[in-house]
Formats: sequence, structure tokens, C-alpha cells
Amino acid sequence: MEQWQNMIRESVHSVDQLVEKFNIDRKDAEDLDEFFQARINPYYLSLIRYPGDPIWLQCIPDKVELEDFDAQDDPLMEEAMSPVPNITHRYPDRALFLVTSQCGIYCRFCTRKRKVGDYEKISMKGLETAFQYLEQHTEIRDVILSGGDPLMLTDTMLEKILIRLREIKHIEIIRLGTRMPVILPHRITDKLCNMIKKYHPVYVNTHFNHPWEVTLQSSKACEMLANAGVPVGNQMVIMKGVNDDPAVVKELMQMLLKIRVRPYYMYMADETKGANHFRTSIETGLKIAEALRGHTSGLAVPHFVIDAPGGGGKIPLLPNYVLHKDEEKIILRNFQNKVYSYQNYADKNNPDGYKFNQKKKPKATKKKANKKKVPVRVYEEV
Ligand SMILES: *Cc1c(COP(=O)(O)O)cnc(C)c1O
Ligand code: SF4
Repeated sequence: MEQWQNMIRESVHSVDQLVEKFNIDRKDAEDLDEFFQARINPYYLSLIRYPGDPIWLQCIPDKVELEDFDAQDDPLMEEAMSPVPNITHRYPDRALFLVTSQCGIYCRFCTRKRKVGDYEKISMKGLETAFQYLEQHTEIRDVILSGGDPLMLTDTMLEKILIRLREIKHIEIIRLGTRMPVILPHRITDKLCNMIKKYHPVYVNTHFNHPWEVTLQSSKACEMLANAGVPVGNQMVIMKGVNDDPAVVKELMQMLLKIRVRPYYMYMADETKGANHFRTSIETGLKIAEALRGHTSGLAVPHFVIDAPGGGGKIPLLPNYVLHKDEEKIILRNFQNKVYSYQNYADKNNPDGYKFNQKKKPKATKKKANKKKVPVRVYEEV
């Protein structure tokens, strides 16, 4: 048995442990176990600094989960968009492929609480029909292995899946969605990396939510993947008490770049039964997005999205930088709230725009330029 598998075995899991270690009322612990089991491996547990801290909130069951009565359990309509078991096909050219129900931790905010951890709801019996679906649908060029956490599979099992996918000619890229580098970095071994790199291009998207998750171990895991030629991205969810603070998110994004992880998505939390206590306002999300763009490396700025309820997919949100736009110009503000005008040229999509070599500038712009002195941007030498 590998070290990481032992660590899964040593996880805090039972009702008795929840009562003893975290002072949870026994009845609540039983109900919580029934609703969405706990699994806190010794590594992630060791990151907790005090009760209720950002690490604790992500992994320790809380009775507020049970107080969330009439919320949806499948907000993204993944079931309705599942043509065969284990596949969600929402976008034209890519598909989500659930390969296991198991995770190295059960995150209290998980949006798939309804099925994650349940062998019957994400069953290995569905793998064959899923492969057949992927074979038949030649429009699918991008397959995302998810679950559960695909790195809960053994190397051998994962390799079987990768071999089978690589036999399908129209599948160009394979992605792994895994929290293992964050919550159990011991899973990222040389053996695993050497196996994965035989099936390139393979991308990994992981899920850091807080700077304290960036440790020596998780840094090493991400660097090992990067060294194996795997581009590693990060998907973060904005959560109350965890990272609903621009300074925390900026620090996390900068730390991720240092360990060669590229911030990819930043999500508003999904409406999910038992996880709504984590949700924040859209204003908070926009504030965080605004605190990144321009204020730090563009590489540190993820796409800020809402995964639309009802299965609409990821929809980008931007703070409002456009103050005005017409055929002739667009008026923008920058990250420091300075205002700039940009000439809108004519082409097939904008026949009335400013024309190349046009003698006279359009009236509006000219008038404005005469009236008010537009500040000239000086580029200082550095
Ligand atoms: C997020 C997601 C994808 C991948 O979306 P990208 O924007 O390509 O990263 C694919 N399928 C489903 C169902 C998803 O939720
Ligand atoms: S690792 Fe992902 S799928 Fe598993 S519990 Fe956490 S959020 Fe859910």
C-alpha cells in the first residue's frame, strides 16, 4: 500500500471521532454523517491552526449544513445533461467524465454532495458505456476526468483509463480535475508523474482556496506535475470565512504563480443544499476581481465566473470598466479609475466607425478634445 493510501485510511471519518475531536453533538454528527460523510486526512488536518479557521471550515462538518432545507441538490443540472451514466455533456466539444465517487477529503462546500462519496451514484459499472459514448461522439475533443477525485484511483486503474482515451482519435486533450495536490500532496509521486506524461497533452486543474494550503508539500506536488510537462491550473471558489477578502485572494494567486500553478477560474459558490452558508454576494466577488486586474500580474488573474443554475455553464463576470460605447469610440476606466477614450474603427461589424485615413475625426471626439485637455500619458523610463 502506498503512503497516500495509508493516509486516507487514517482519516477522521467516524461519528465517534467527530464527537471526540471536534466537539460535535452526537445527534448532529450522526445526521451529518448521513447527509455527507466526513473524511479529513492527517495531512489536511495538520493545516488547521484554530477552530473555525479557513481550513477547518472547508473540511469539518457543521450542523448549519443540516439547516439548509429547500435548496437544490443538483443546481447545475448535471443529471439532466448526462446522456449516459458518468458523463455530463454540456458544451459542444468537451465532456465531463466521472471516474470515481471517492475523494481524498470531503469538502463541506462540495457542489456534488448529492453523489460524491457514494459508490452507487458514481459507479464503475458506467465506465464502459461512458467510453462508448466518447467514442461515438466525434465532436468531443476535450475530456475532463472528475468525480470524486480521479487521483483516488490507483496508478494502474488511471493508466487503463488514459490508454483507452488515447485510443480515441478525436480526443485531443485530457484534463484531470483533482484536489489531491492541495489536500493530500503525497499522492503526487514520481511514479504517477512518469505514467501521466506518456499520455500528453494532459492538463491538471486543482483547487486551492486559501494561502495556508500552499505548503512545502503542496508546492512540491505542483512542481512535480509541472516538471512532468503538465500545465497546472487552479479553480477557486469564493467562500464566506475562507477567502471572501481581496487581500487573501491576491496573496493566494501570487503564491500559486510561484509554484507554477496558473489561476484559471474563480467561481461564485453554487447554490447547493448543505453548502449555502458559504455563499457571498456578487459584489464581494466583483470586488475581489477588481482588486486583482492591474494590481498584480495578469497571470495571477483568473476568469471570474458564475456556473449558471439550470445548467447554463460558466458565464464570465467583469467589474464594469466600460463607461460608454458607440460606433465611434469606447470610453473606459482603468484599474485606478482613470478614464480613457479609444477610437472605434469601421469594419464589417461596425460600418459607421472611424475610417482609416479619414481626414476629419468624428465630431464627438473632436469636440471633446477641443473642449477639455485630455491628459497625455507619459511613459516614464524605469
Ligand atoms: C466546467 C465544465 C467543463 C469545462 O469547461 P471549460 O470552460 O472548458 O474549462 C466541461 N463540462 C462541464 C459539465 C463543466 O462543468
Ligand atoms: S474534492 Fe472536489 S468532488 Fe471531492 S468533495 Fe471536494 S469539492 Fe467535492
